[in-house]
Amino acid sequence: MERTNAWNTYDLSMRGSCMDFADDYKDFLGNCKTERECVDRIVNEAEENGYIELSEARRERKTLAAGGRVYSVWMNKSVALFEIGSEPIESGLNILGAHIDSPRLDVKQNPVYEDSGIAYLDTHYYGGIKKYQYVALPLAIHGVIVKKSGETVIVNIGEDEDDPVFFVSDLLVHLSADQLKRPGSTVIEGEALDVVIGNRPIVFDAGTEAGRDSKEKDNGKDAVMRSVLKILEDMYGITEADFESAELEIVPAGRPRDAGFDRSMILGYGQDDRVCAYASHRAQMESHGLQRTSCTLLVDKEEIGSVGATGMRSRFFENTLAEVMDLCGSYSELGLRRALANSCMLSADVGAAFDPSFASSFEKKNTAYLGKGMVFHKFTGSRGKAGSNDANAEYIAYLRDLFERASVCSQTAEVGRVDQGGGGTIAYILSLYGMNVVDCGVPVLSMHAPWEAVNKADLFEAYRGYKAFLQGASFTNT
Ligand code: MN
Ligand code: MN
Repeated sequence: MERTNAWNTYDLSMRGSCMDFADDYKDFLGNCKTERECVDRIVNEAEENGYIELSEARRERKTLAAGGRVYSVWMNKSVALFEIGSEPIESGLNILGAHIDSPRLDVKQNPVYEDSGIAYLDTHYYGGIKKYQYVALPLAIHGVIVKKSGETVIVNIGEDEDDPVFFVSDLLVHLSADQLKRPGSTVIEGEALDVVIGNRPIVFDAGTEAGRDSKEKDNGKDAVMRSVLKILEDMYGITEADFESAELEIVPAGRPRDAGFDRSMILGYGQDDRVCAYASHRAQMESHGLQRTSCTLLVDKEEIGSVGATGMRSRFFENTLAEVMDLCGSYSELGLRRALANSCMLSADVGAAFDPSFASSFEKKNTAYLGKGMVFHKFTGSRGKAGSNDANAEYIAYLRDLFERASVCSQTAEVGRVDQGGGGTIAYILSLYGMNVVDCGVPVLSMHAPWEAVNKADLFEAYRGYKAFLQGASFTNT
């Protein structure tokens, strides 16, 4: 079945709106390279749009009614946004769920060392990466260092034009005879992903007595490392031990850019899944006066199995919904369970875009094409659909009709060719409540690479689709 190219459905004004939306998205993507940075930005924009913080609403004994907007943040890394609809919550919500973590290198807890006059930060990669893609490119460090006093130091270095950047070295091709015989998975080993952070010994002023007499200067042991630690102490007021309570993420340095002579695409870091997170967030902000209560969930830890207190498998969402129902005066254990079971969800996550350069890994009829709009995955998983949420036909039929009426371009796909691998999203976790869930997002080229590509029309169609979904009527299987 042929699908239309979304660009062919746009008139000039629509094309302009699509390009403008992409500009807003690039600004978000360039400024939000960690979960915490995403949450900060989204909360700021939510407050500008009339959202109030849930625990504050509770403290002030506010009640929520139709049109009320509330959000809740969990550990600075996940956020849930709600707008109360005119129907009782018990009859279900329309939920958009995306993740705001992306593959990267995390700094270890005892990371600093020196070898042969080069100072390094040792890392442990996070999520699925091709390790060889992380060498020989400029890297930035984003994150937090929390001191024993409780003070949080925010780190963001490598993004400004005059900031220094960091890098992982690769072996020169001239001496790579052995390296290039190794399989791709071990061309660069995990423990080789150590980031270069300095190359000059600690400076002692030779004009002073202290400088001339310095023992440290004499033996010179780890003088480069000590120099870097001194700089960190001066810059951030931290000691080496403070890395123990730090979350520092090493990410590709630089801003997202338009790609192609026609500027039809965006090349940027972390588009899995911030492209769907941004589209969901905008749809949530811009949908008012709803029949069904809307919710946008932006969560952490999807790339490592949705684990931990801030991942989708945490009770955070369920607990938050209970609090929201309480503020609406409609909480009961049974009511909460009904609300969850009666909800509909779009698991807003990216899909693999067909790549003509690697055509044999895809099955052409059931693959997503750049520019052909938002993509549905009825199921994901691997091998015999293992681990997937296989969405119900009835639910998909409802969505097909909804999106057709909103003139949203969409396509359907599988993750890739049968038995070539696979993947998962947060879809299966919400489906545990018995709610209808389907994966639905933006196709991405070079997914999980330091620089991923999307088509601007696909982003715009996802945003339009998510909006139509939040504004849609209720659908239940029961
Ligand atoms: Mn994803
Ligand atoms: Mn991913």
